[in-house]
Amino acid sequence: MHIIKEIQTAAYLFASILFILSLSGLSSQESAKRGVLYGIVGMIVAIIATVMGQGVEGHVYIMIAIAIASVVGIMVARKVEMTAMPQLVAILHSFVGLAAVLVGFGSYLDPKSHELTGAEHMIHLVEVFIGIFIGAITFTGSIIAWGKLDGKVPSKPWNFAGLQIMNLILLLICIALGVFFCDAEGTEGMLFLGIMTAIASFIGVVLVMAIGGGDMPVVVSMLNSYSGWAASAAGFMLRNDLLIVTGALVGSSGAILSMHMCHAMNRSFFSVIFASGGSGSSKGGEKKAIEGEVTSLNHDEVATLLKEAKSVVIVPGYGMAVAKAQYPIYELVQILRKQGKNVRFAIHPVAGRLPGHMNVLLAEANVPYDVVLEMDEINEDMPETDVVMVIGANDVVNPSAQDDPASSIYGMPVIEVWKAEKVIIMKRSMSAGYSGEDNPLFYKSNSEMLYGDAKDSVDKILNNLKK
Ligand code: NDP
Repeated sequence: MHIIKEIQTAAYLFASILFILSLSGLSSQESAKRGVLYGIVGMIVAIIATVMGQGVEGHVYIMIAIAIASVVGIMVARKVEMTAMPQLVAILHSFVGLAAVLVGFGSYLDPKSHELTGAEHMIHLVEVFIGIFIGAITFTGSIIAWGKLDGKVPSKPWNFAGLQIMNLILLLICIALGVFFCDAEGTEGMLFLGIMTAIASFIGVVLVMAIGGGDMPVVVSMLNSYSGWAASAAGFMLRNDLLIVTGALVGSSGAILSMHMCHAMNRSFFSVIFASGGSGSSKGGEKKAIEGEVTSLNHDEVATLLKEAKSVVIVPGYGMAVAKAQYPIYELVQILRKQGKNVRFAIHPVAGRLPGHMNVLLAEANVPYDVVLEMDEINEDMPETDVVMVIGANDVVNPSAQDDPASSIYGMPVIEVWKAEKVIIMKRSMSAGYSGEDNPLFYKSNSEMLYGDAKDSVDKILNNLKK
């Protein structure tokens, strides 16, 4: 028996190291595939070590559950479109939250846990209470985030006077319930636990409903972090060291990602999470009237502009993902580069619907990393750029983020495409981006619209360039 425990500890240590290597691999595009592989191997080791561990019974049922879940997981992963990835990630976070809630209730009702006494018993009760609290917020918050990302729940922030006060009161009620729960004998604390679960579930809904479209990237990364802490809490309840370590890794990396997203959007973490109405940095008041006229051109005219240009910058956005335009775009880039032009991509940190969304799509199309630049690296080159092609991007190139204090995206750094000689905006209509804000860029004198599906438009430009 002792030897099994020692093998399990060694396997857990090995899996933890693999998870750390996985995270470090995922930090750059070149090593990302290796990172994913480390993660897969680590997870297999972790599952085998847990299932084969001491005190685990019902192996047949566990195997059946793993087999069914694996088939469902493989089917969903194969079927899901790249554009629906953010929703999938959000719903997966909700499962972690739900698991933490179920583990919490299971652990509280487990007769063995009531054999604990003194400080050990108290620590266990606090673990259960906090684990369920975080789990319930993660569960419902992630479901709302899934709905918002999938367009099933309106992205407009839910706002009413006293929202923050209400959240504070609910939090204080949960703390009071926690005190009663820890005082209760046997399983008499179930009522307090149940009420707290309902309140925490409601807080999860309110927190995410209150956040506006433009600030959603922070919510996605924040829920990622919460799901890690929920897993960690479940690890404490189950006395499983690996789950504690893995949860802490996910929780802290998610928190760091949230900080990065906040930095990218020039928001403070707390102002996003506790925003009254989540209207970003908007100073309120009347929105600036948009001046100018919208003009458009056709594919052949765009091809001519590209032939004449020396330097070209491509700004991809969510529309590129929808149209799956990354493949013809890369072909276009290759042709232009062969003609000696300086062609680069400009990536905004919140472009698309997932952190790193654009980088993943461009890597999928084998675009070399050295022509993919971050917003901060390329903004200063804009005045020397001849042509900017904005492909399916909108919010990330919206100048009102800089000059309209009433805009919900005011204060968010954007790619300053309007400083280039010519800007071509490729999208299907004049409709707004995810934030719901109109874009004055379309009306600027050096801007031209090229209407249509991004892939279709790039194909037509390619045909002209190949002639
Ligand atoms: P936006 O959502 O601002 O704009 C995308 C544009 O793509 C739309 O205006 C749409 O216009 C166009 N489009 C859609 N389909 C096509 C198509 N087939 N062909 C051509 N164009 C198309 O995207 P951005 O990438 O500029 O900005 C991302 C937004 O999403 C930001 O507000 C960000 O805060 C938010 N967000 C980001 C997350 C992240 O982690 N990155 C997570 C959640 C939200 P039209 O309909 O006229 O074609």
